[in-house]
Amino acid sequence: MTELRTIYANVLGYIDRTLPVDPVQEWVLSETVDRGLPPIQVTAEQGRLLHLLAQLVGARRILEVGTLTGYSGIWLARALEPEGRLITLEQNPAHAALAREAFERAGVADRVELHVGAALDTLATLTLDLPLDLAFIDADKANNQAYFDWAWDRVRPGGLVIVDNVLANGRVVDCANGDEYARSIAAFNRYIADNYGHLATMLPGYKLDEDNLDGTLIVRKPLAEG
Ligand code: SAH
Ligand code: MG
Repeated sequence: MTELRTIYANVLGYIDRTLPVDPVQEWVLSETVDRGLPPIQVTAEQGRLLHLLAQLVGARRILEVGTLTGYSGIWLARALEPEGRLITLEQNPAHAALAREAFERAGVADRVELHVGAALDTLATLTLDLPLDLAFIDADKANNQAYFDWAWDRVRPGGLVIVDNVLANGRVVDCANGDEYARSIAAFNRYIADNYGHLATMLPGYKLDEDNLDGTLIVRKPLAEG
């Protein structure tokens, strides 16, 4: 019997060969590795989903926490409505420098506001001219709840808050002993389940290069309160 992971690897390769791959996105991925930066971007499949979801909500204002080198940001920025804006937050100046180049090459720099600094500090001073249509949270996982709460207060009814890496290669399932990373994610997932569970979905996804199963949480704000 063929191992499930082999089938998965073949299928992911098939998807990437079948659907068009953007040269700028490929450049971002390889340049990230060449500069010794961590290649921990969302997968192409996740990128396509983020792009689709941003289009579906007619996004004019998107917040991203955790830019890295701009890969997910390009997927999001390219889905913006005319006059739309991606506000993206990154702590690491080397990551942000490549992200700026990436946004230029992708032709979206005019739509992107990149803030360099610790996201909690940036959020404390950030003011929005319009409510958010979508927020994508993908930074330091210990602050997930703080980022989520900030975004949830500012997302419009019908808008989405999306959080990456909520399954920690399955370690969220049993993380009682010393796995601080998985434990903080599991605590965040519990918080979401208790307060927004009926509005939420979790999508598992396999990351081929890391042989790692992780997941994305999507929460939609109800159209009308109550
Ligand atoms: N969304 C990106 C991947 C983000 S990786 C993509 O899919 O392409 C997580 C990023 O969060 C890293 O670049 C890291 O430097 C950044 N980060 C970690 N802690 C942060 C903080 N407190 N404030 C802002 N950015 C932070
Ligand atoms: Mg991630």
